[in-house]
Amino acid sequence: MKNVIFLAPPASGKGTFSDYLIKKHNYNHLSTGNILRQKALTDSSLASYLQTGELVDDDTILNLVKENLSMTNDKPFILDGVPRTLNQALKLNDIIDEETWQNTVVILIVVKESLLKERIINRFFCPNCGATYNSSIESLKPKIKDTCDICNTLLIKRSDDNLNTYNERYQSYLKDTYPLIKYYEEKHLLKRINNEDADISKALQMLEGVIND
Ligand code: AMP
Repeated sequence: MKNVIFLAPPASGKGTFSDYLIKKHNYNHLSTGNILRQKALTDSSLASYLQTGELVDDDTILNLVKENLSMTNDKPFILDGVPRTLNQALKLNDIIDEETWQNTVVILIVVKESLLKERIINRFFCPNCGATYNSSIESLKPKIKDTCDICNTLLIKRSDDNLNTYNERYQSYLKDTYPLIKYYEEKHLLKRINNEDADISKALQMLEGVIND
């Protein structure tokens, strides 16, 4: 099973794809966004980066990756949310060795912008168990409105899931992350998965194909 790196605009589905890989194939999940949100609970300057959608500096990010990637043992890993700049991609080459790269795929999740906005507005999560939902995607709707299927807790929104922060995150994706597509294409590591369907089963089938290629 291949290691996975997601290049993906906000709300394109990297969290959902990651959940699938964790549950179905026991992947190790390294999400820089999740780690930063946890740290931001006690670090107000970090919290303001997350609130505005501005990128955190590369050294902080690379240190997080170094610390957490060393704990993945022999399981395949997911890098969710990193690299987001060309500099992060170059520095990642000092952390991931050549042999590991040969068993790694970079997945670009393709979703048009109008759908991303709709998904941001309709995205919720459970503050108790962390499950995520999206009321604009049939297969990700909670069974009871605003309620977690797993533990019955009232669902809430991520504080950066609003249109203002989304715009900043999307602009940063276009400016900083989009150039990485060419970088990984030239290295023959890039695969594209379309995730525009309301039913995500086709996208997950493609994901299976890519990790087993
Ligand atoms: P995410 O959960 O991946 O959407 O990330 C949420 C926020 O965390 C982003 O809007 C950035 O402020 C910050 N962040 C996450 N990953 C990175 C990264 N690789 N480089 C810089 N900032 C990041």
